[in-house]
Amino acid sequence: MTQEINCFEIVKDLIDTSVKKLNLNKSVYNILSEPQRVLTVQIPVQMDDGEIRIFTGYRSQHNNALGPYKGGIRFHQDVNLDEVKALSTWMSLKCAVLNVPYGGGKGGIIVNHKELSQGELERLSRGYIRAIAPVLGADLDIPAPDVGTNGQVMSWMMDEFSRYRGQNEFGMITGKPVIVGGSMGRVEATSRGCVFTIREAAKVTGLELNGATVVVQGFGNVGSIAARLLQQEDGCRILAVSDSTGSAYNPNGLDIAAVEEFKARTGSVKGFPGSKDISNDELLSLECDILVPAALENQITDKNAAKIKAKIIAEGANGPTTPEADRILADKKILVLPDVLANAGGVTVSYFEWVQNQYGYYWNEEEVNNRLERKMVEAFNNVYGLYRKRKDVDMRGAAYMVAIERISQAMYMRGWLG
Ligand code: GLU
Repeated sequence: MTQEINCFEIVKDLIDTSVKKLNLNKSVYNILSEPQRVLTVQIPVQMDDGEIRIFTGYRSQHNNALGPYKGGIRFHQDVNLDEVKALSTWMSLKCAVLNVPYGGGKGGIIVNHKELSQGELERLSRGYIRAIAPVLGADLDIPAPDVGTNGQVMSWMMDEFSRYRGQNEFGMITGKPVIVGGSMGRVEATSRGCVFTIREAAKVTGLELNGATVVVQGFGNVGSIAARLLQQEDGCRILAVSDSTGSAYNPNGLDIAAVEEFKARTGSVKGFPGSKDISNDELLSLECDILVPAALENQITDKNAAKIKAKIIAEGANGPTTPEADRILADKKILVLPDVLANAGGVTVSYFEWVQNQYGYYWNEEEVNNRLERKMVEAFNNVYGLYRKRKDVDMRGAAYMVAIERISQAMYMRGWLG
């Protein structure tokens, strides 16, 4: 699916539209339409059977007008250069929407991480960091987790970079385990941020969250925790969840903690007791109040958007909705909370982690969550305010305008635009 629709072309078109709406110089588009620097690296890894396998990795540094490049590292078999470039562009926009002092970057390795042993994964992670070390650093480019990577991978990467520099370099990467400079609340941050935007959206649309019905596509870090928080903290009824192997649907609602436990044990949500496995298309078109796409890009398209019945779509994933689908959803008056807003809680707490690393002074979870809530609510209000004021943009268009306005101001002040 990701190969058929080119998300880098999509994000460039959206930037073009926003630059025009903001009456900015065409040079703003020209700069933002390509990353400032892209690295392609070969990573030789000794596999457990002794054979050397070569993996291809990328790091795209999109824009650093507002601060160091920032963004995750994806381990997935479908990773490709255009996808990494698009993801790095979204990071520039996301950080700007949240008013976090970072630019955008993203990395990826073409690998099915599920096929690798822990030892192979560690050697691959360290090899990748050695290959791109010259362009990394706490004030230069700061990676983080993304699809297929986690705190353990960040920890190996931090350790490898610390060896390269000859001193501890906690601030060079975020999403680390708490024991090695991570932040409280970072694991839940993307989901918690997403829930904060859903709460704001519920307020402005008059939706009562207690008893509201929710469907979640994707049961990785973002989807599973969002489902759990919505159920446990907001009293939502989670009708269905899915992962790459199948789905679990129960019209009476799923016990998410039990689904998490089931998936940890069996590797899949499919077959969860009392649930039915439905197709991806059936899942997306279920009658519900809130739909959370939290898997990969290009999931909501012109093929299925017309069938969606949710009132609010909160994009936990990056790029789950195509522009054609956006138009269909707007006609249906479905409020879409775009990725660059709805999933920005992750990078926001990454920023808090980096700040704590710089200070060497660490906050408790309550402090992290309170600060995250303030950031998310403020960003939601900025975007929603512009959306209501302009009337000629959807929430995504408004978010892009907020972001591009800020990035272009920085580029003007720095003299990049004459
Ligand atoms: N990979 C996450 C994202 O797409 C987090 C990035 C970060 O924390 O730097 O937003």
